[in-house]
Amino acid sequence: MKKTVSLLLVISVFISLIFTSGLFAAFKGDVNGDGEVNNKDVVTMFRYVSGSEKLDDESAYDFNGDGSVDNKDVVALFRFVSSGAEPEELEPEPEPTPDGYFEFTLLDDGTYEIAAKDINNLPKDIVIPRKHGGKAVTSIGAGAFRDCSGLTSVTIPDSVTSIGYEAFYGCSSLTSVTIPDGVTSIGYQAFYECTGLTNVTIPDSVTSIGDNAFSYCGLTSVTIPDSVTSIGEYAFSYCSSLTSVTIPDSVTSIGYAAFSDCSGLKDITYKGTKIQWDSISKGDYWNSWTGNYTVHCTDGNIVK
Ligand code: CA
Ligand code: CA
Repeated sequence: MKKTVSLLLVISVFISLIFTSGLFAAFKGDVNGDGEVNNKDVVTMFRYVSGSEKLDDESAYDFNGDGSVDNKDVVALFRFVSSGAEPEELEPEPEPTPDGYFEFTLLDDGTYEIAAKDINNLPKDIVIPRKHGGKAVTSIGAGAFRDCSGLTSVTIPDSVTSIGYEAFYGCSSLTSVTIPDGVTSIGYQAFYECTGLTNVTIPDSVTSIGDNAFSYCGLTSVTIPDSVTSIGEYAFSYCSSLTSVTIPDSVTSIGYAAFSDCSGLKDITYKGTKIQWDSISKGDYWNSWTGNYTVHCTDGNIVK
């Protein structure tokens, strides 16, 4: 009898683990979470799209990836199921850091802005939750994690579109940050003095990099995506470890002192021609105290 009870306990714990870890929702299109992608998912999706049922997380239902959930997704999923193709395995989402560590502020558009509740009581690796109380977290507030010197990594979900000014200012232990596709602006001094930050990937949804955004960072190389048109004042200044930068031809202005005091800068890879490079509006001191570097344009080099 005792044996049976403990066996049942083990089984129920195992089943709940499977459910909580979301193992069954590891395939794109498996909206009912049963581990298979078939007509049942088409029906589930159709019910949500046509009915009044609310979704906790609509992202799983955006099958065609156009940012909204509607009949087109039902059709796309139906076609996919009919084709008999193998479903795409999804990367498991990291477990979000519990809400108790954060403060949430409801914004005018009905979404939440997030900040640390107490910078002295925060795990060293944080995963920003995608939702709070069923509403999306879209913004990391001004000064949200300022001076969290113990913070070593932060994972930002793709619900976030804005990283506020001084959001991670002075997070000197921060070595890893994932900025998701969807973020359009990186605010003023957002990563100022993140001296441990050696690498950052800026997604191609970002159109502006704010003033002082990465000043005094430990960055060794930076690739600026094609979506960026302006690089703010002092944006990468005092990044003395920075040796190479890639600048797309979408950039029309480089702000005052943007790369000043990047004393290790050796190579700028520019994705346009020499004439285009010369036509970029460059603020005073944008390249002061950099030492010598070469700008590699598509039709030749310019040496400082
Ligand atoms: Ca399914
Ligand atoms: Ca869609």
